[in-house]
Amino acid sequence: MPQKKRGEKMKKRTFSVLIAVMLITLLFSACQKGGEPANSTAPADSATPTESAVSDDSVTFQILFTSDTHGVFDTFNYSTVKEMPGGVTKLATLIKAEKEAFDGTSLTIDLGDAIQGNGTGYFIGNDEYSSFPNIAAFEAIGYDAVVLGNHEFNFGYEALLTAYKGFSGEKLTANVKDASGNYIEGFKAYHVFEVEGGVRVAVIGLVTPNIDKWDPKTMDAAGLTAYDAAEITKEVIAEIKAENLADVIVVAGHMADVNEYGRSGSGATDVAQQNPEIAVFMGAHFHTIIGIADEQHVLEGTDIKFVENINNGGSVGKVQITVVKEGDEWVIKSKDGDYDTSGVKTDVIAVGEDTAIDAGCRFRDEALPRYSF
Ligand SMILES: [Zn+2]
Repeated sequence: MPQKKRGEKMKKRTFSVLIAVMLITLLFSACQKGGEPANSTAPADSATPTESAVSDDSVTFQILFTSDTHGVFDTFNYSTVKEMPGGVTKLATLIKAEKEAFDGTSLTIDLGDAIQGNGTGYFIGNDEYSSFPNIAAFEAIGYDAVVLGNHEFNFGYEALLTAYKGFSGEKLTANVKDASGNYIEGFKAYHVFEVEGGVRVAVIGLVTPNIDKWDPKTMDAAGLTAYDAAEITKEVIAEIKAENLADVIVVAGHMADVNEYGRSGSGATDVAQQNPEIAVFMGAHFHTIIGIADEQHVLEGTDIKFVENINNGGSVGKVQITVVKEGDEWVIKSKDGDYDTSGVKTDVIAVGEDTAIDAGCRFRDEALPRYSF
């Protein structure tokens, strides 16, 4: 293709992407604010209502989590110009359905790798898109917390901070600090959420320490060091225990179940083996569904379950934890099974074919064709 034409096409394409995303953002926020979905189909078996999540001596709460959305806002791939199976808009629908079906507290957390992929580097450093579209969506959906993934470090420290501006929930990443021991600006190691019954749930955020291999420039320029996630988790849990801050401790970690590059403390198994207090490990990063309802994954040498989502907004992870009262304390009777009475039930919700956000906004039918390339 001649250079000029190609340039024109690129300009047109960039403009079209811009318009499309602005439109999606508007439609999306409009849907969040009011419009009843035309089709509220959710996977039939994805949201099993519970009778009651709270009784005098037991409480069940759930954590919904996503990860590796990689810039996939709606179900459209901007480079291949094709529909995709997932997207944050679909996640919104699934999360809403799961929350509605559950009679108890739901926490919602994203585990990182949100700002890279699907051509969305366009929005990086563009002040008009601060925060980044996927992060703005997390805010609109009502996420309680976010955790950084390795790809959040791809574009430099300022870009990372800008992308997460406007997110009013908790920003968690424990194992990245500067020389003075400060966390990334606006972030902290963990947050204690109080769920029904006054049960205190500490969520610790972690990222694979291999960010210093992939993005040494970002790390050096910001004076940041990535620490062994198992070691840091030990320190954090010691602090939580010393001050008796939580009844339940969970990890939201942007890392796989196993170490990468043979580096200790870069996978969930190492973290779990050194920290038996963890109730469940919500992982990410390898883009693999692990831990569905009838196929639970317990980390080697531990009784701690591991759950992970597929990428590009293709699934939502769900963890349900039941605690029972023993004396003055809330305890989990069993972490790796027997959740008829109490324990950790893990699941990854499969994405549905069609969803309320898509259908309700008529995005596919009307908006996108008008602004396609
Ligand atoms: Zn990753």
